[in-house]
Amino acid sequence: MTIAIYPGSFDPITNGHLDILKSGAEIFDKVIIAVSFNTNKKGFLPVNIRTKLIQESTKDIPNIEVDFFEGLTVDYARKKGANVLLRGLRTSFDFEYEMQLSQTNHALFKDIKTVFLITKPEYNYISSSCVREILLNKGDISDFVPEPVCKYLKENY
Ligand code: ADP
Repeated sequence: MTIAIYPGSFDPITNGHLDILKSGAEIFDKVIIAVSFNTNKKGFLPVNIRTKLIQESTKDIPNIEVDFFEGLTVDYARKKGANVLLRGLRTSFDFEYEMQLSQTNHALFKDIKTVFLITKPEYNYISSSCVREILLNKGDISDFVPEPVCKYLKENY
């Protein structure tokens, strides 16, 4: 059984993240989407809300588990018995950063391999930071995020 961890901030989860996650769930037996957080860094949404929104957005996909963790991704992967990290690629800017991250993770945990999936063109430009910016300026985010996220953000921000 191949378990993949899809780690990220997901602050909030976007349609781009969801696209990568769905493809990952078709490839791997189980995908754990895990919100990484740092107690000393305040994000936009609290971790429990980010997790809840991911749960609501992925409830139709059976082989997905939603979780959160603090600390090194490789330590979390070891604990979960996973040997794949799933990450998404949009542009060459992502590539430079992701290559370094992947090599660092591999140096820390020899059994871990990072698998990259390239997003569909229609989600290429979407990022959590641009969603937050649009929201703060009262723009329409409905094309960028899953329906439960859109509903929550419109009601609360
Ligand atoms: P991090 O803070 O770890 O970069 P993010 O939540 O920003 O966390 O992203 C998690 C993963 O999802 C990263 O691999 C990132 O490249 C990928 N990702 C983010 N937005 C998109 C998108 N629109 N399409 C595909 N992958 C994406």
